[in-house]
Amino acid sequence: MRTLDELDARGKRVLVRADFNVPLQNGEVEDDTRIRASLPTVEHLLAQNATVVLMSHLGRPKGEDPAFRLRPVAFRLEELLRQPVTYVPFPPGSDQTYEVVRGLGPGVVALLENVRFEPGETKNDPELARRYARLGEAFVLDAFGSAHRAHASVVGVASLLPSYAGRLMEREVRALARLLQGYQRPYWVVLGGAKISDKIGVIQNLLNHVDGIAIGGAMAFTFIRAEGGEVGDSLVEEDKLEVARGILKAARDKGKPVLLPTDVVAAAEIREGVATQVVPAERIPAGLKGLDIGPETQKRFAEALSSAQTVFWNGPMGVFEVPPFDRGTLAVARAIAALEGAYTVVGGGDSVAAIHRLGLAKAFTHVSTGGGASLEFLEKGTLPGIEALGGLP
Ligand code: ADP
Ligand code: MG
Repeated sequence: MRTLDELDARGKRVLVRADFNVPLQNGEVEDDTRIRASLPTVEHLLAQNATVVLMSHLGRPKGEDPAFRLRPVAFRLEELLRQPVTYVPFPPGSDQTYEVVRGLGPGVVALLENVRFEPGETKNDPELARRYARLGEAFVLDAFGSAHRAHASVVGVASLLPSYAGRLMEREVRALARLLQGYQRPYWVVLGGAKISDKIGVIQNLLNHVDGIAIGGAMAFTFIRAEGGEVGDSLVEEDKLEVARGILKAARDKGKPVLLPTDVVAAAEIREGVATQVVPAERIPAGLKGLDIGPETQKRFAEALSSAQTVFWNGPMGVFEVPPFDRGTLAVARAIAALEGAYTVVGGGDSVAAIHRLGLAKAFTHVSTGGGASLEFLEKGTLPGIEALGGLP
């Protein structure tokens, strides 16, 4: 993977694929974390007096839906950079966009319109990739959150221009690569969240590396059910019971502990202030749903993690959006944050939102900005976007 250190950007026009897929509210950027994450790359290029042409996707528009325009991102970017940003409101592959971009001078920052307004974007259409390639003399991929997508603005254009990893991309890949190679042990993984189906490949690959796995969240109920437990009305993926059994068997064959909840906080519905009870995880009464790991489980997980030198965490332990079902997630976050000298990484949209809300992000070695991308990297050891830049460093 070539990096910005190998690019002499002085006076060049540089096309940058960033990840500005931010949440909008009433036409304004609600959370600018991803825009901030792109600043090291943009500022590095500006310091070399390059012309910086930024592009990104936003959401999943069907056609040119005005609700998915990037104008609000341009406004926020102007504030963060403290310099004007030229917003180019045409489809990014169009001749109109090309005409605007051709006229931009050095030191200028431009933001193109949503790449998903182009029907060829997600199909990695070669003609669209050629149209993008006209817009720069070099290409920088900094959209780590999209690096698992073989789309025209991610990998298509990279094959047509000298291409480099941006600072965010570089940082993410280095941080996550340390979870697959050269890690210190004991190495524990904590998994939670809604569905096991999203995370099967990751679990299977990480089982080759880790010393143990702790599983919470709704995902745990598919495992508990697979072992014959009664989980009441908790979420279970009935079609994944066999997969869950296979994972538990593989772990046992390798002699690696898989910790499942022994107690859960259960309620009849997901609502703030609803009556809750702590019940055994494998005997949840009918009519109740397990919505968080219980106090005994919090303690067991924290104890298992206490000697870890490496931890990867993905997925909240409960319905953290609705108190009091945020306590298990808080307990696990605190247990990981308290590890001194350990290498700790959190990845996943909701888990990262949870630790930001708990104010614990600074206590982790690395907080990944890419949910799906970080999981796919840990499953496969690389991503289409990394390969397009020449493979792992
Ligand atoms: P991430 O984005 O960190 O990868 P996921 O998207 O897999 O995490 O899962 C997050 C969602 O899982 C949250 O919306 C949370 O409310 C839900 N969740 C966690 N535990 C439970 C549970 N016991 N029952 C229902 N939903 C749960
Ligand atoms: Mg999520």
